Amino acid sequence: MALSVVELDELHQQLDLWREQGLSIGFVPTMGGLHEGHCSLMRQAQSLCDRLVVSIFVNPTQFAPHEDLEDYPRDAQGDHNKSEAAGADLVWLAQHQDIYPPNWSTTIVPQGVGLGLETDHRPHFFTGVATVVARLLTLVRPDVAVFGEKDYQQLLVVRQLNDDLRLGAKIVGGRLIRDGDGLALSSRNVYLGPEAREQARTVPKALQLMCEAYASGERDPSTLNALGEVTLSDQGLSIDYCRIVSSTNLEAPMDLLDDSPQSWRALIAARCHGIRLLDNCALDDPPWR
Ligand code: AMP
Repeated sequence: MALSVVELDELHQQLDLWREQGLSIGFVPTMGGLHEGHCSLMRQAQSLCDRLVVSIFVNPTQFAPHEDLEDYPRDAQGDHNKSEAAGADLVWLAQHQDIYPPNWSTTIVPQGVGLGLETDHRPHFFTGVATVVARLLTLVRPDVAVFGEKDYQQLLVVRQLNDDLRLGAKIVGGRLIRDGDGLALSSRNVYLGPEAREQARTVPKALQLMCEAYASGERDPSTLNALGEVTLSDQGLSIDYCRIVSSTNLEAPMDLLDDSPQSWRALIAARCHGIRLLDNCALDDPPWR
């Protein structure tokens, strides 16, 4: 049975107890609306620790005023059950006043890997993410925390944040999980009707074509980017970015790509029927093999 905890004091009492018993703490922060992608992170985290904490908090500071904060999927009981089944020992339904107490006036503005790509389209986003992740990691103080490669830039931002502020967690990346039709699982996919869903499948198809072209010997990043962009725009998707970047620092290649496909990642953000889709893969790890 996973404990369901709302109060911060109760969370800390339980964490203190586990630490006194010498047990290591794993952590998977989420915004709820849980799906198999989240559950796979939980199973991975559980294999790396003695006690697993899952947090559920829809973080308002990473939404712009026009975005879907109010409509974000919320299902506390369903999320608890899924977390428990995936190995959580404690599900923390974090309250706004505990994350952002009344006098809270600090924000963290990531630089480096936090600049460009997402920030070009959602300027507020990583400030909100970094601030809430710093807060969550400080409150839970996990030994290990697992974040999904689905949000690849976010994973690098969190790693940098954890290093810069010496938050003390080991940050581990979890594999991106897809639906049977190739679409990356996302809490927002529930908003895609059948027509939009069909169109959304173009995103993994674009990644697939980029990977196949690389496997066939294409090494010019502009040609590969253009291939992805044409695939997306032909199907009517509105592209925020479709770009091959370095897996380690997200910089654009200066020259032709080398023969090490793990060094390069294709990242896509595109809008489909008003839903923003985010996807990526290493050049030798296409959506379909
Ligand atoms: P969210 O609830 O969307 O903020 O996501 C919580 C965590 O789940 C983040 O670390 C995400 O990167 C991760 N995540 C979301 N979707 C997937 C997916 N399809 N596969 C793996 N991890 C995911």
